[in-house]
Amino acid sequence: GGMGQLYLNTTNPSVATGDGVAMAYRAGAEVTDLEFIQFHPTALYLKKAPRFLLSEALRGEGAYLRNMEMSRFMAKYHLMAELAPRDVVARAIMHELGRVRAKDPVVYLDLTHLDESHVRRRFPRIYKTCMQYNVDITTELIPIRPAAHYAMGGVRTDLDGRSSLPGLYAAGEAAGTGVHGANRLASNSLLEGLVFGARAGKKMRNELKAPAARVAGLPPAAYSNGPLSVPVDASINELQTLMWNQVGIVRNANGLKEAVERLKHIEPQVARPHSRREFEARNLQIAGLLVAQSALAREESRGAHYRTDFPDHNDVKFRKHSVVQAEKIRFE
Ligand SMILES: Cc1cc2nc3c(=O)[nH]c(=O)nc-3n(C[C@H](O)[C@H](O)[C@H](O)COP(=O)(O)OP(=O)(O)OC[C@H]3O[C@@H](n4cnc5c(N)ncnc54)[C@H](O)[C@@H]3O)c2cc1C
Repeated sequence: GGMGQLYLNTTNPSVATGDGVAMAYRAGAEVTDLEFIQFHPTALYLKKAPRFLLSEALRGEGAYLRNMEMSRFMAKYHLMAELAPRDVVARAIMHELGRVRAKDPVVYLDLTHLDESHVRRRFPRIYKTCMQYNVDITTELIPIRPAAHYAMGGVRTDLDGRSSLPGLYAAGEAAGTGVHGANRLASNSLLEGLVFGARAGKKMRNELKAPAARVAGLPPAAYSNGPLSVPVDASINELQTLMWNQVGIVRNANGLKEAVERLKHIEPQVARPHSRREFEARNLQIAGLLVAQSALAREESRGAHYRTDFPDHNDVKFRKHSVVQAEKIRFE
């Protein structure tokens, strides 16, 4: 699965803690393109409500984005206005949020000008879910913010799911096949899971017919369902806040360096896991560090990775995949 739980705001389920990537990395496998984290521009933003994803189809149907002054703002940022690519809309929203002095600013999705019965028919689940939080999307503005949504990178695999470690396969969001480039197109990941899951399955079946390649020296498996521990949740919260602020939608060298240092600082707090939550904390710390280090190394902007200190592409140096193995990072 993914690693959305690295971030304070995410559309991902609580199990998306980067376990696959962190485990593979610890075992010595190469991981790739981890700087490319896609942020969905429009997640419901209400205290005590999960960051429920408000589909792009709402904007496709004609919904507007409005800032706290009630102005439509997207035309300032892109010719396609509300229909601009995900990363452009997410950055524009962050910019609008940064402009206002409100303590907890939001941006709004506005469907109130659309036909009420059509909206209810076309988006029954979104209508029902928002109603649970007392927001009637046909008559009221929906408070939203961007949220971490999808990891384009992962455990580096070939097109049969094989990682760089003999016998280790990965498929789905945990894998980095390269198919999503720097910015996944919506709806391609279910396809990815099916195609590469099946391919990996076939390849593993064939591999089992040959003598098995063994990986030596892995630490023994430990408990997975111990009691939750309060201190580790404080570390997770610190990590999520740090990742959101410094390794989020808009990045720069100073913030990324600070993140790398502070993530290294968190390591001893999560280094000796016993319970499931503690293992997740350790995996989040490892995955977070890998994302931050990869983002720091990629001194350009591309797809979902945007740096204010390097706002343009640098094709000569970086039209390549980042690859991390152990302490080394390279581009190829
Ligand atoms: C709200 C939302 C909407 C989306 N909409 C779309 C869409 O419309 N189209 C599209 O293509 N993609 C969409 N995506 C992305 C897509 O759903 C995911 O990328 C995809 O489900 C990933 O599949 P997966 O099998 O790799 O991982 P998952 O579906 O996350 O499965 C991973 C599994 O591993 C388990 N697990 C985690 N850690 C461990 C561990 N340590 N040990 C054992 N098991 C573990 C988890 O419990 C989970 O069951 C959406 C994602 C979200 C969050």
